[in-house]
Amino acid sequence: MLVFSSAKELLAALHPPFTSLGLVPTMGALHQGHLSLVERAMKENSHVVVSIYVNPTQFNRLEDLERYPRNIEEDLKTLAPYSSKAVVYAPTDEDLYPAGIQAKSYAFGTLTQYLEGAYRPGHFDGVATVIESLFSKISPTKAYFGEKDFQQVQVIKALVTLLALEVEIISCPILRAEDGLALSSRNVLLTTVQREAAPKLYQTLQTIIEKRNQWNVQEMTAHFFEQIEAVANFTIDYFAVADPKTLEPVDQLFPSKSYRIFVAVYAGATRLIDTVEFHRK
Ligand code: AMP
Repeated sequence: MLVFSSAKELLAALHPPFTSLGLVPTMGALHQGHLSLVERAMKENSHVVVSIYVNPTQFNRLEDLERYPRNIEEDLKTLAPYSSKAVVYAPTDEDLYPAGIQAKSYAFGTLTQYLEGAYRPGHFDGVATVIESLFSKISPTKAYFGEKDFQQVQVIKALVTLLALEVEIISCPILRAEDGLALSSRNVLLTTVQREAAPKLYQTLQTIIEKRNQWNVQEMTAHFFEQIEAVANFTIDYFAVADPKTLEPVDQLFPSKSYRIFVAVYAGATRLIDTVEFHRK
């Protein structure tokens, strides 16, 4: 697996014929969810770059940044089967942040006003800053993002419009463990007991989806709180039913419309997020 800490050296090393370059930005501690993005990128591009960088500016809590799992050696082994087309960009801070590690400030309107934007102040400025830097250094044809971070995908699309960039943003479905838990790098931080309880999140969302045509938002919210608050050491950061385009939470559901539920829950100190879409009859 070729690994570069400098984008300049990486681009110089890519072998022609060079038709399209797919970028998969990650923070490492790779799992099958990341690999689903890599596999899609492998199918759609002549060259693939997987970036691995734990971006400090998107963490609003120092404790979360410090606890975030890092395992570059393991990640390189995981990516080895893709080395025919893919290379790894594991940048130094200086390469991505030549002017110092600091987030820029963006105006994304309602897209960053709610959900993760409200509960993790500054998070999306950090995400947009690092993605803007990655895009300007790598100049990908396509970039791949997971719908597990649905709000992030919308923000990146808005960033591309704002900066009039050429890159195509490809949004990929959530990969889940067999028991329904959305795969996440943070899952390794769960204790055995927390990991056993964690599928309750998706199960509860599934029940709400089944009742989508009977329940109103208040009933959906009440059900989620009732179920999740009953799990020891689980605390709810938020539950919201939102418009999938503006990401504005709604308190009323109308016929023939699609909605998306967003949740964030602490299992002990580990923050889990999930999202599902539904259509109201
Ligand atoms: P992260 O390393 O958590 O920043 O994730 C890197 C990319 O992988 C992001 O675009 C995530 O949305 C995506 N991703 C993370 N987990 C999953 C998953 N379970 N299914 C699909 N994509 C995912």
